[in-house]
Amino acid sequence: MNIVVLLGAPGSGKGTVAARLVSDAVKHLSSGALLRGAIQAGTAAGIQAQSFMDKGELVPDQLIAQMVGDYLSTETQAKTLLLDGFPRTLPQAEMLDTILTQAGATIRCALLLDVEDSVVIERISGRLVCPGCGEGYHATTLPPKQAGICDRCGAALATRADDQPETVKHRLEVYAAQTFPLIAYYRDKGLLRTIDGNGNDLDAKVISAKKEIN
Ligand code: AMP
Repeated sequence: MNIVVLLGAPGSGKGTVAARLVSDAVKHLSSGALLRGAIQAGTAAGIQAQSFMDKGELVPDQLIAQMVGDYLSTETQAKTLLLDGFPRTLPQAEMLDTILTQAGATIRCALLLDVEDSVVIERISGRLVCPGCGEGYHATTLPPKQAGICDRCGAALATRADDQPETVKHRLEVYAAQTFPLIAYYRDKGLLRTIDGNGNDLDAKVISAKKEIN
């Protein structure tokens, strides 16, 4: 299996681009979605993760690495797996290297969606998600056909609890301090590829991403 690590600040568009790359051979794993699923299911890992997530803090490295490792050990169909939101710290990147060696998988590239802070804040402040199927929208740049309703499954759209302005500010600080160093980690390994994520032309970003992952 080929792994593509998606890098970029919260709101940089990793999930939106990844959703467009998914096919029979390409799967998308969002660590945030994995954690939100565990919280909803009330698992021990979910209960442990919730207090960190509510504050915009990262959950402990070991907790999320275990969950991603478990997922990878059961995923046998994908030729390419887009890892969105993991790793998020240098220790997690090292844990991922170990997990992949055990799983016989390799990192094809680390794809950075490079976006300015002001753009990120604007994007997150309009972000809407479907609690039913996970589809993402934006109030102005990617609105649903009918206001407040998911195009795909018809459920009422919601705002994520950790998308409140104060929590977003903190998440960006956490990104700068803990996740930003991963850019150099993957650059040093010759794996870093960068896409300009500032504009709203999703098709252009998807085309650039496809070139890098194939
Ligand atoms: P996301 O959906 O990727 O924005 O993640 C939402 C929240 O889940 C983050 O603010 C963290 O609290 C937690 N989270 C997701 N992925 C990780 C990770 N790799 N390491 C630690 N915490 C994570």
